[in-house]
Amino acid sequence: MDINKLKILFDEKQIQSRIKEIADELNKFYGREEVIAICVLKGAVMFTVDLVKHLNMPLKMEFIRLSSYNGGTSTSGKVNAVNIDLPDINGKNVLIIEDIVDTGLTAKFLLDFISCNFHTKSTKFCSLLDKKATRLTEVDPDYYGFEVDDKFLIGYGLDYDGLYRNLKYIGYMDKSDLE
Ligand code: 5GP
Repeated sequence: MDINKLKILFDEKQIQSRIKEIADELNKFYGREEVIAICVLKGAVMFTVDLVKHLNMPLKMEFIRLSSYNGGTSTSGKVNAVNIDLPDINGKNVLIIEDIVDTGLTAKFLLDFISCNFHTKSTKFCSLLDKKATRLTEVDPDYYGFEVDDKFLIGYGLDYDGLYRNLKYIGYMDKSDLE
C-alpha cells in the first residue's frame, strides 16, 4: 500500500474546528455535571484527547479496548472486548467516544454492555465520523463530526494494518490502491 496515494478528506484545520463545535454542544448539554468519558481504543485516541481539552465540566477518563477488524479493511462481524474493565459508573453521565460508526456493531455491543451492567444517569455516544450508508444496526451516534461515504478511511486514529493512526488528517484510499 502506497501512503502517497491517500486522498485527503478532512485536513487538520477542518477536524479541529469541528471538534471545537462538538465540544461546545457537549459543554451546553452537560453544564457543570460530572462526566465519565470512555475512549474506545485504539481508534478514538486522537479524537478523545483533542475533544476533552475543550470540555469544561468535571471529567474522568476511562479507556476500553474493542476490536472487530483483525487487521483487514472490513469488520469481521464480531466484536471482541479486548479490555472492557470499567469502574462503577452507576448513576454517572457516561460519554462514549469513538472514531467511526460503520456497521454500528461495536456501538451496539458497547451500549448493550453498559445498559446490561450499569444504571447510568445518562449514556451518550459521540463519534467523529458516521458512515451511515453501511449501518447494519439501528444505532446512531448522539453526536458526530462528519458523515462519510463508504470508503476505507485512514489517519487521525484510523489505521491501516496498525499504521498511520498518527496522521493529523483523515484520508481515503481507492480500493485498487489498498494492496
Ligand atoms: P463498526 O462496528 O461500526 O462496523 O466499526 C467500528 C470500528 O471499525 C471502528 O471503531 C474502526 O476501528 C473500524 N472502522 C470502521 N470503518 C473504518 C474505516 O474506514 N477505516 C478504518 N481504519 N477503520 C474503520
